[in-house]
Amino acid sequence: AQVRDLVESRLVTIPDFPEPGIVFRDLTPVFADAAAFHALAGALTAPFDGAFDHLAGVEARGFLLAGAASVLSGAGVLPVRKAGKLPRAVLNEEYALEYGSAALEVHEGELAPGSRVLIVDDVLATGGTVAAAARLVERAGWQVAGISVAIELEALGARSLLDGRYEVHSLLTY
Ligand code: 5GP
Repeated sequence: AQVRDLVESRLVTIPDFPEPGIVFRDLTPVFADAAAFHALAGALTAPFDGAFDHLAGVEARGFLLAGAASVLSGAGVLPVRKAGKLPRAVLNEEYALEYGSAALEVHEGELAPGSRVLIVDDVLATGGTVAAAARLVERAGWQVAGISVAIELEALGARSLLDGRYEVHSLLTY
């Protein structure tokens, strides 16, 4: 509850960004507060202690969370990148966003077969982004240890997309 309160106290809510009708949750003040950022990074991995070997961070805010959680947990980072950024052979998964669409990529063979990967991101909205990251992990021959996010926007229905298939943890829900 203390971590939740600390993170929530730094969270800023912006109506109508990036488009009219979208309520945007901005975590940049959380990242700017070292104590809140540290606490958030620890809270993301705590429910999955001992159950993961690597952290997959989704570009771009997920990179910050995965990097911080890596230092705290000792697990390495798998960057899940937007299409076209990785220099070697990739796997690609397209996905629909709350606004727009995109594709994510990872390097084939980046991790050892069977590696247990915990996927982290800032916000879970429709779940399309982390579902695409999970498909990449599985297609690459690794296992999804779980999905951990700072904020879940419950009304957007990510649970129905992900539940039963993955263990999902969110620190804050709206
Ligand atoms: P989804 O694929 O679950 O619909 O959308 C989640 C992705 O969009 C995440 O990578 C997240 O960074 C971004 N996103 C969607 N809504 C918000 C929001 O309100 N705030 C922030 N910071 N990111 C959002």
